Amino acid sequence: TVKKGKKKEEEPPKKDESVEETKDTKETKPEEKEKFECPGPDHELAEMLERDIVQKDPNVHWEDIADLTEAKRLLEEAVVLPMWMPDFFKGIRRPWRGVLMVGPPGTGKTLLAKAVATECGTTFFNVSSSTLTSKYRGESEKLVRLLFSMARHYAPSTIFIDEIDSLCSKRGSESEHEASRRVKSELLVQMDGMSSEQGKLVMVLAATNFPWDIDEALRRRLEKRIYIPLPSSEGREALLGINLREISTSQDLSLSDVASWLEGYSGADITNVCRDAAMMTMRMRIAGLKPSEIRSLGRE
Ligand code: ADP
Repeated sequence: TVKKGKKKEEEPPKKDESVEETKDTKETKPEEKEKFECPGPDHELAEMLERDIVQKDPNVHWEDIADLTEAKRLLEEAVVLPMWMPDFFKGIRRPWRGVLMVGPPGTGKTLLAKAVATECGTTFFNVSSSTLTSKYRGESEKLVRLLFSMARHYAPSTIFIDEIDSLCSKRGSESEHEASRRVKSELLVQMDGMSSEQGKLVMVLAATNFPWDIDEALRRRLEKRIYIPLPSSEGREALLGINLREISTSQDLSLSDVASWLEGYSGADITNVCRDAAMMTMRMRIAGLKPSEIRSLGRE
């Protein structure tokens, strides 16, 4: 199904403008690839995957993510560097086939996956278990197969599977459905086959809040595991800074004080607090006003 570099000259230079905009990624961005063509009856499934899952440029950068320096370093080592220096990452230094990010919800796992895709210009496949198993139950394993051949076609690619525990819980457990067992087996087979093709780097990045629920065979294939903790006090302060960078705040606001009050909050919680706080001026302004007065305020 993959025809190498045949049509490149005919391709219209569609993405030029966006490449100009994101200067940082300009060098690493892959050139526009020939569209994935799937002959035969699976044509529609391939179109659906392309429409729902492939995300060309998620536009999240390392500096948009607070804290997590260790996780960023590990991901860079596991995903970004093998792409830049393939000759070094051979034999015993071969890149990890799969990376599992583990940690409480809302700590930035999805953001990290998007940043990986942006920073190294890979094609980003954002897969949730519902996409693979929902409507097309009987065809789920076919979807998995298509997903991986599409990823190989658009290589280098990153396949991000969120909440992988719900897709790949332990085999033989009570909740297991026949269809999900087949999806799981297909996933295992595809991940095994990934390294065989030279120069076609496909990396599986998975995230979960329940690592102990994942099937052992799959856990073995997700060779590198990264723990994404709740933000530290510096992390919370940095995150407050990131969230509040677009609005003006009071001179005497001390972010480090606020950060110390937010111990135990996840990144998503802190973002919510900031969103709520950012609404305060508006709330104060409209307190006691009638709807018509509020509407005229909006026009000011
Ligand atoms: P999960 O770990 O559940 O995948 P997400 O990556 O989806 O969490 O994070 C949810 C939201 O929380 C993000 O959209 C972002 O606004 C905020 N967030 C969480 N952690 C961070 C972080 N370290 N830096 C910046 N924003 C963060």
